[in-house]
This record gives sequence, C-alpha cells and structure tokens, in this order.
Amino acid sequence: MLNLSTPEIWFVCGSQHLYGPGPLKQVAANALHVADALADSKQLPLKTTFKALLTTPEEITNVMLAANSDANCAGLILWMHTFSPSKMWIRGLSVLKKPFLHLHTQFNRDLPWGTIDMDFMNLNQAAHGDREAGFIHTRMRLARKVVVGHWSDPEVHERIGAWMRAVRGWHDWQGAKFVRFGDNMRQVAVTDGDKVSAEMKLGFQVNTHGVGDLVAKVDAVSPSAISTLCADYEKSYAVAPALKKSGARHDELRYSARLELGLAAFLAQGGYKGFTDTFEDLHGLRQLPGMATQRLMGAGYGFGGEGDWKTATLVRAMKVMGHGLAGGTSFMEDYTYHLSPKGHQVLGSHMLEICPSIASGKPSIEVHPLGIGGKEDPVRMVFDAPAGEALNASLVDLGNRFRLIVNEVKAVKTPKLPKLPVARAVWECKPDFKAACAAWIYAGGAHHTGYSYSVTAEMLEDFATIAGIETVHINADTTLPALKQDLRNNEVYYHLAQGIRA
Ligand code: MN
Repeated sequence: MLNLSTPEIWFVCGSQHLYGPGPLKQVAANALHVADALADSKQLPLKTTFKALLTTPEEITNVMLAANSDANCAGLILWMHTFSPSKMWIRGLSVLKKPFLHLHTQFNRDLPWGTIDMDFMNLNQAAHGDREAGFIHTRMRLARKVVVGHWSDPEVHERIGAWMRAVRGWHDWQGAKFVRFGDNMRQVAVTDGDKVSAEMKLGFQVNTHGVGDLVAKVDAVSPSAISTLCADYEKSYAVAPALKKSGARHDELRYSARLELGLAAFLAQGGYKGFTDTFEDLHGLRQLPGMATQRLMGAGYGFGGEGDWKTATLVRAMKVMGHGLAGGTSFMEDYTYHLSPKGHQVLGSHMLEICPSIASGKPSIEVHPLGIGGKEDPVRMVFDAPAGEALNASLVDLGNRFRLIVNEVKAVKTPKLPKLPVARAVWECKPDFKAACAAWIYAGGAHHTGYSYSVTAEMLEDFATIAGIETVHINADTTLPALKQDLRNNEVYYHLAQGIRA
C-alpha cells in the first residue's frame, strides 16, 4: 500500500519503589514477557516494544516526552503490574500527545489458591493498581481504550488489535497531505466544511490545485508509458473488445491510462495520500477520471467525488486500518433503493469511482456515456461487490465539531444489472432499513461514505476516541428514541467539552 508506515507501540509498565529492588526486577521481567507476547501475536498489526518500568514522576514524564517526539511511536500500552500511585503520572500524562490503551491484565492467570502468599500478592496487584491508574485517567478526562483480560487471551488481542488499527490510521493522518482538484460541487453542503478545524483537530492538511496543474502532468505522460499500462490492463482485466489494442475505441483506453499516469505522477510528487476531483471543473481534461481513480484507490489513495475531501481522508484512514485484513474499502454512495415489501435494500455505487479492492471477481473495463458533465465517455471498471458483513462510515462537519457516523450493513449478492455499467454493491442496513436510514438522516450522515468489508465499528469507535470526535453507531441494537436522545446529549457534551476551540 502506498505511503504506509509501520510504526510501533510502546509498552510501559508502572510501579513504585515500595516493593524493593528484588520484586521490581521481577516486575520488569514480567512486563517484558507480556510485551514480547504481544509483539509475537499474529493478531496484532503493529509491533509492541517494551519501553520501561516507571517508578518516579520524572521517569514517567521523560518517557511521555520521548513518545511525543519519536515519529515511529504511534501509541502506548500502559499497565500497572503493581500499585503505582497515580499522582506520579499527572505531569507525564498532561504532556502526552500520543494515544494510549490501558491494559488491565495480570501476569499470573490462575490463582494458586493453596499456595498464595504475600509475595504472590505483591507481584499480582493490577486488580487495584490499574484502578488507581484508571481513576487518574478519568480524573484528567483522558481519552483512552481500556482492555480487560489475561494477556494471553485471544479476545484481548482482538481488542488490542482493533485499537492498533485505529492508531495506525490516526498516525497515518498526522501531517498527511490531501489534494483537491477544483473546489466542491457547487451548492452542495455536506461535502463542504472547515478545513482549518480539520487540520487542528484531525492532523491532516487539505489544499486545492486548479485542475490546470493536473492537466500539465497528464499532458506530459509519454506514449510508451501509456502503451505499457494498456498492455497491463489487457492482462489484468476483461477489457471490452472495442477498447483493446486492435479495437475502434482503443484511443479512449489510452486516454484513461494517460489520466492514471498523470494523476499518479502528481500525487507522488506532492506526497499526497488522497485526492478529490469534480465533474464541474475538468477544463483541459477530456473526461472525468474513472478507471484512473479506481486504480489509484486500489493502490491505497483516499478519494472523494465532487470535492468531498472529508470522505477522501476517511477512505484513506479506513484503508490503513483495514490493511492486511480480508475485504477491501471503497468510496461509496447510497445510489438508489429497492423498497420491496419482501425486504428493503440499498444499491450503492457512484458515477464511476468504486475501488476494485471490493470487487468480487475480475473487473471488466468498459466505456459508456456518463450522463452529466458534457465530457467524453469515461472508461471505467465494472464489477459486483461480494456478499458479507460490511459497514458505511461518514464524517460530517457540524460547524462546532466533527461527527463520525457508522452503519453496520449486510451486503448481499448483486442482482444482474445489464443496463447499469458501474461498479456496485447491494446491502441491507442494520437494525433494519427504515430505522437505519432515519437514524442516519437524524445524525446528518452524508450520501458519500467509506464502505468497507475489513474495517469494523470497533476500529472506527477507537479511531473517533483518539481523534476526540463524536461517533454515532447505528447497528443491530439501535432504537430511534435512544439514538435521538444520544444526539441531544452529545450536543451538550461536545459543546462543553470542546469549548471555543472548535
Ligand atoms: Mn457523489
């Protein structure tokens, strides 16, 4: 995946000098053992590194400052193997800028009921040591994830794994650059928003280039590079006969390859992790990039149509979170509905730009009119997305804060669509179509989303916690009265918690 780093997680154990040097040595050895077990876990996407056993306020502060300044440290796991008086942690935690997970575990798994003595007690005190730590985290209103259970428990690894994926997405966002070719689609509200707030709160930058800057890169692509890429297309996909080298419309495939190579060169040169475009600003381009955008999304770039920079950034973060898992992530739009009394469904697609990472089979490459924009017919990949558990996520700007809305869905087999030449997915919403759509609309969710088979609601909730933004989770347990009350409560909470720094 393009521009993907693999940072590490620091494992930090808290204690104090009350216990004497002998037990502290044992505590450090045990903490190293736990950290190594996490480092070796196949369920965890990032490496855990044992950093320190901390016993004084000065040590704690120094490690937190070091974590802040180490670009390769994406977050910390904290564990109080023994009792660590938590006023020692106030200064360090006040300056910590990286996300942390509080692992509430115990070195020993089963209690040796017949032989347990005071030495055993002194070494297995997380039951109260972690409560002391949890109090100070809560007292300081620190966002974190608490994971409970023995460190060898696969379910514990699953919880930590979800958090690590969220951490990786967050780490990827910090300092990331996204480019918009042209502005938002005129008059559209939900795709717009405050890019200054986004950079303050979320860490990425979004800037605009006139499409002419892209045109210059597209025009500079060499004919031989285009020929090579077109040959690759014919090897990798089911290319329509008219678009093949011998076909009457091969020139249109060549232009699509030119767009892809020009876009790729622009993005690589600028160090961008995603982009937007708009069919309302294509001066100097013959067509809206279709397959070019699909292929670049497939390579790991975030994308949003019609200038939708928030969805472009979200799609990138979701791709990072889901990296290495089965099932892909795409830009998506709620396209049209099937409102049969036998079951309501959503047909999801976009004009062109659905990512082949969610293709259930070999995509076909076709060329058809777009119906809007007045440009040449764009080349696009056409495919069905598979059945399975999936979700849609939308990031919206409410003026005083960002809200992440997540709806868990069940994708179903796509019916035959011989007259609709777009890549598409069909899903059923949870808890049901009517409640889910009402909840989504009450929450202000957009028509554009990040759609994923690999990213889970837990990852996105952890991600929102790290970002300090609101999350609205629509799933099998959602009821509308409770959801509406949550939205009202959140208006007050976020208004007070964030104050004027929006
Ligand atoms: Mn759209």
